[in-house]
Amino acid sequence: MSPLHISAISLISLILRLILTVHSYNSPLDELSKTRRRISHRTSTPEDSTLHVQPGSSFKVALFSDLHFGEDAWTEWGPRQDVNSIKVMSTVLDEEQPDFVVYLGDVVTANNIPIQNSSLYWDQAISPTRDRGIPWASVFGNHDDMPFEWPMEWFSSTGIPPLHCPVNASCPGESEGGKGCSFKGTTRLELMMNELKMNNLSYSKFGPKDLWPSVSNYVLKLSSTDDPESVVAYMYFLDSGGGSYPEVISNAQAEWFNRTSQEINPNSRVSEIIFWHIPNQAYKTVAPRFYAHRSCIGSMFVEKVSAQEAETGMMKLLEGRSSVKAVFVGHNHGLDWCCPYKNMWLCYARHSGYGGYGNWPRGARILEITQQPFSLKSWIRMEDGYVHSEVLLSSSTRKE
Ligand SMILES: [Zn+2]
Repeated sequence: MSPLHISAISLISLILRLILTVHSYNSPLDELSKTRRRISHRTSTPEDSTLHVQPGSSFKVALFSDLHFGEDAWTEWGPRQDVNSIKVMSTVLDEEQPDFVVYLGDVVTANNIPIQNSSLYWDQAISPTRDRGIPWASVFGNHDDMPFEWPMEWFSSTGIPPLHCPVNASCPGESEGGKGCSFKGTTRLELMMNELKMNNLSYSKFGPKDLWPSVSNYVLKLSSTDDPESVVAYMYFLDSGGGSYPEVISNAQAEWFNRTSQEINPNSRVSEIIFWHIPNQAYKTVAPRFYAHRSCIGSMFVEKVSAQEAETGMMKLLEGRSSVKAVFVGHNHGLDWCCPYKNMWLCYARHSGYGGYGNWPRGARILEITQQPFSLKSWIRMEDGYVHSEVLLSSSTRKE
């Protein structure tokens, strides 16, 4: 059998497997009624972008970063990684019992997904959180809307043969014989639309239209249940690009942040926490080499920071606000530190998925927000239950 035949068979079996997986899911309507039951006693709704915390109790957030679902689905190895990633999330959720989950980008490895709709994998990645009735929000990483990259081993050694896409997998309108056959990836807008359509526990937002194709720029408010007017914290989510466009937080996004923060928190009275996927240049300036710098807390220092392509003003704005406590990013799977920077902390999450490069043990960064007075504590919970790198992020860091 030629490699092309083998790959065609693999592709068909992948599609069948996916169809079976999708059928084993609850229908959107089942899901809707189930989650409605779960949240009927909750006071928070995704529509008003407000989360609530009981007076006197803390609000716990789990960060799942770089899950990279959907890798090498035509092999046995690939689907096994996704099962392992589900186990990591399930363990963390059961041990920590968070109030909220943040999916910090690279939920899927879209450049590895030879089907039209990556949302099928996205949905698998959020299922452990949804199944436990925990609300969540997501922000995009660079791998989430990349176009499919054809593996070279799918082509015969005698040259590149004409492509024959299986009927189910080809894009609508493509001609017979596979001319123009490609897997263009699922765009950020489509991924977000599918997430929101299927899930009423999702607090994710498209973000302002004038920032598109940068999607997932939004802010969530954390308020006390006894007094909705008393805001405990604002959580900002920004799309740091990559995939279908440059890896950068644009000037337009920075302006949006400036406008929004001036409007809702004009005197910086309320604490602010920031989430995006790709570290910015400031991470390079504080990155410790090989071992922890005296003021950095973490367990992995084995990689260089892969920063955004340019700094267009976002960081200057954050530096100018005493209310900004910390920025959380993923992207570098071999880094999990928090380092002080000016008035805030720059933190990595922890590689949570079995997909993506690196074999370091998997885990998740946990945040704990308490009120009156505000405090932000963080630690890393590993898959085997071990907890490490606890750090108080609300303490003042402005020393230098
Ligand atoms: Zn990644």
